[in-house]
This record gives sequence, C-alpha cells and structure tokens, in this order.
Amino acid sequence: MALVNTKKMFEMAYKNGYAIGAFNVNNMEITQGIINAVAEEKAPLILQVSRGARKYAKISYLNAIINVVVKENPDIPIATNLDHGDNFETCKQFVDDGFTSVMIDASHLPFEENIAVTKKVVEYAHPRDVVVEAELGQLGGIEEDVVGIDDVSKHIANPDEAVEFVEKSGCDSLAIACGTSHGAFKFKSEPKLAFDVIQEIGNRLPGFPLVMHGSSSVLKEFVDLINKYGGDMPNAMGVPEDAVSKASKMAMCKVNIDTDLRLALTAKIRQVFAEKPGEFDPRHYLGPGREAIYEMVKHKLHVLGCAGKAAECV
Ligand SMILES: [Zn+2]
Repeated sequence: MALVNTKKMFEMAYKNGYAIGAFNVNNMEITQGIINAVAEEKAPLILQVSRGARKYAKISYLNAIINVVVKENPDIPIATNLDHGDNFETCKQFVDDGFTSVMIDASHLPFEENIAVTKKVVEYAHPRDVVVEAELGQLGGIEEDVVGIDDVSKHIANPDEAVEFVEKSGCDSLAIACGTSHGAFKFKSEPKLAFDVIQEIGNRLPGFPLVMHGSSSVLKEFVDLINKYGGDMPNAMGVPEDAVSKASKMAMCKVNIDTDLRLALTAKIRQVFAEKPGEFDPRHYLGPGREAIYEMVKHKLHVLGCAGKAAECV
C-alpha cells in the first residue's frame, strides 16, 4: 500500500469511537520504535514531521526513512503529516514533497485571516489529494518554535467560531484548544479537558474530525527514570491517559504524541549511561531507547483505541 491521506482513517475513527495516533519522527530509531509497535498492534498510523525535524534531519532523509516504513508494512495504512506548518509556502512545499496531509497553523492570526490562509492551503492541497488540518484557538505550552499561551483554561475554542471556521475554510480536520498544552511542563495542577466544548463542537459538526495537540501524558515512569539517573525534570505533568481515552471516544480522531516519545528515549539513554558509564557504542543506548519507544507506543495505541484497526482503515 502506498501512503494514504487521513480521510478513511478519520471516517472509521469517528464512526467507531477511537483516535489515530500521530507520532513525530526525527530520526531512524524513533521511527522504528513507532512502526514496530504499530505493526505488532495492527493500527493505522500518522507520522508527523515538524519544521524543527526538517531542519534537524533534512526532509530527504526523513522521507527516505518513511518510504522504507511504507514499503515494509503493506498492511498498515500510513499517512504523513506536516505538523504546525507556519504559512502557505511551507505547506505547499510538503504537498509537493509527497506528504498526504498538512497542518496550517495560522491560529495566531485574527480569525478572518486564519480562515483565508487555511482556505488557500485547502485550494492547493485538495486537487492533489492532500488533506488539511487547521487550528483554532491558541494552544498552550511550548513546542519547538511554536509558543502557546500560558493559561490554557482561558483559551478554550469557541463552538460558534469552530463551525464558521470549518464551513468557510474547507479544512478536513481541526485542532481545537480544549485544555491541553504542548511540552513536558504543561500544567501546575492536573488539567481538566473541556469535554463540554468537545461535545458541543462534535454535535454541531457531525462526522467532522477534531484533533488534539499537546496530549502526551508525560508518563511518570519515564520522568522518574530521568530524575533518578541525573536528570532534572521536577513538576513535569501531562494530560491523564483516561482523559485522552475519553476524548478519543468522542470527536477527537487524531491525537498528537511527541513529548512521550522524547521522554521514553531520554529516560532509557540516561539509564544506560548511569548503569554502564563505559558504554560508548551508540547502538547500545539508542537500541534500548528504541525499545522503550516501542513499548510506550504499543501502550498508547490501546489508550487511543486504534490497536487492531488497521484493516478497517484501508
Ligand atoms: Zn502541536
């Protein structure tokens, strides 16, 4: 199977009450950890590349890795998404590079301008069979150069605006601010997701897929390992997994996971270095890091409910 866009995935996820995991890739080991888990659990998959990832690894290298993943996993529907495209030109470039989905993040612009930019991306992408994710209401936290607002609870998406935005822009999915936040230091106290807003937008846009950013759980086992082996991440806190599960059963059809990948890799590498100070073969710390990602992603696929759903998304 060649790469697919997210249309069928979202249709099935919406209908059957689960979400597709969208995982950020930056190198070979992260990508292998993800695909090994996805192949084992027979889940549909979205691989995401951010602008930061492109800068770090070059899109040609990442594309080559992704192409191998697609070729070696013919039974797994795989979509590729540009994460947080900052303008039309970036989105166009990723469409031209063969990505099947692009996110245009113009949420920092005034409402009407956000609609206009998103519409322009949609008009370029749709004739090329590429789908477009847009963003409404600013998300919190820090993700690479995407700096969000501080107090997420004050910036929840407005359902009236969401309906108008989707109708006018023609986007295929929408990331809404619903109380989540980017990064590992998301919240000062346990967050409350705005399920009422998710529900209302879901009711008013029946069948329309919503997207959740900043939804890593900042898994305690990894934060504890990092702190135990010389790291310093006090007060790291994420979105509880039961809240992610609940949202996945609603209109949330795509859940972005990046921080938890970073934590898994970092925790394992720290552990290897602490326990074997003489270790200097990268395969002996990147390998265990890849294994930690594999285990973590396997677990996440069950949290999202998409394990075993590859076949129905084809
Ligand atoms: Zn994001």
